[in-house]
Formats: sequence, C-alpha cells, structure tokens
Amino acid sequence: MPVSDDVVRYEVDGAIAPVTMNRPEYGNAQNSAMTYALDDAFYRAAAADDVAVVVLAGAGQHFSAGHDIGTPGRDIGTSFDRRAGLWWDHVGKPGAQRRFAREQEVYLGMCRRWRELPKPVIAQVHGACIAGGLMLAWVCDLIVAADDAYFADPVVRMGIPGVEYFAHPWVMGPRQAKEFLFLGERISAERAYELGMIYRVVPSGRLADEVTEMATKISAMPRLGLALTKKAVNQAEDAMGLQVGMDSVFGLHHLAHAHNAEVGSDSLAGHDARSMRDERRRDEQASK
Ligand code: ZN
Repeated sequence: MPVSDDVVRYEVDGAIAPVTMNRPEYGNAQNSAMTYALDDAFYRAAAADDVAVVVLAGAGQHFSAGHDIGTPGRDIGTSFDRRAGLWWDHVGKPGAQRRFAREQEVYLGMCRRWRELPKPVIAQVHGACIAGGLMLAWVCDLIVAADDAYFADPVVRMGIPGVEYFAHPWVMGPRQAKEFLFLGERISAERAYELGMIYRVVPSGRLADEVTEMATKISAMPRLGLALTKKAVNQAEDAMGLQVGMDSVFGLHHLAHAHNAEVGSDSLAGHDARSMRDERRRDEQASK
C-alpha cells in the first residue's frame, strides 16, 4: 500500500522540521498508515540539508493515545513496503508468525530506526501519551511536556509486559518502571519529570513556543557535532543494555500475545480501546 501523507504532516520552518501526527479524531492512534508516513517524514528530515532539528507533535487534544486497537482505520491486515528490517510481510501468515513479523517491522524496527535519526528530535507532548505513544516519545532525544500531559503503559492489563519498545527501565529506572507497569496508572508530566523520563514541563499555552525556542538554539550547533553527540549518548545507553534488553523482552511480549491467542479469542486478551478505558475508570472508582 502506498504511504499516505494526510495522517502525518511534514513542514519546514527555517532549520526546524515539525512532524505532526494527524489523526486527531482518534487521539492520534497509530495505525500502520501513520507509522509508514512517520517513517517517510523522518527520512525526509534526515536527508534535508536545511533541516537541523526535528519536532514530533500531535494534532488535536492529545500527543498519542497509542497503537490503533479499534478505530475504523485500523489496518493490521494491510501490506506496506517494508523497510525497517528484512522480516517478510506478515499478511496471510499463520499464528505467532504474523504478529512477530508485523511487530518487528512496524513497532520495534521502526522505533529503532527513528532513534538513530542523526539529528536532534524533540517530542512536544500534550494530553495523552499512552502505551504506543510512549514509544514515539522515547525515541526522541528530548521530551518537552505541557503541564496537562499524562503518561501510562496499561498493557499489563492485557497480560503483556509493556509495549514493544521496552525502554522503561532505561528511561525511568528499574523500580520506577515496575511501579509504572504494575499499576498501569496515568502519571502526570510533573511525576514523569521527577522520574527523569522527560526533560522539561512547561505551561500548556507555552508548549509550542518553548519547543521552538529550544530547537532554534540547538540548530545553531554544528551538524556533525550534534549527530556525534546523539550517537555518543545512544551508544552509552546501548552499553547499559538497552538494545539487548529490549530484544529479550520482545520475546516475552510475544509469548504474552501468543498465550492470549491460545487461551482466548485474540492476542490482546479481548481488549480494545473502549474496554481498556472502561477497566481503568472502574479501577479509579474502586480506589476512591
Ligand atoms: Zn505487541
């Protein structure tokens, strides 16, 4: 399927390339059309000589509600031109093979590819940043959040040990990661800042301006210096076990998907966006 550009907006504003997820009616839930359009936008920004810094944002009320697990545009049965790795097309494959090939490509593979974009990328986060939304924020170098932003990875509710790009213990520390995952609750931007997961919290009305100011300052630095510095920190993070840890957890993630499919009706333990929301609300009521 060809890549559509309406689900992601790519712009150039001086030395800054704002990349905006654009499914506001669904909280920017990521379907594969969006993933491939993001990949196009990042590739374009990486290749453009006049672009020094990339900003990733979400249109509408939220940064990202996560992976698309229930909008009319959910496209898990659609083939795209694969590019994150050499895994074969998942469409038409049986059982775990289908899920593993697909998630290697559109989730883990894409996120890793984007993390390596040799220019600084700033996540401009407001509203929800849930589950798959965390993956997008985490592959960015800096996360600047509005004070109304909130973060959660509730997929343990599905019996799954966190989202596919399992960076939790590295972006917030192992014990904090356990609390974050075991409880599956929303945490505020302020709390995410305390955990070291985000770089700065700003008043929501100032979010875009603060990010632009920061991006403009960064863009004055030498291009190669920025690229090498980014790589230096990423390599240090890898030396702390990020890549190898993530690979090992991807196996557990797929064990959980397969278990769900084996004992129930689907790999998400029968959950969709609505049931996840209902269970969260019920738990919030119960804990009051
Ligand atoms: Zn998965």
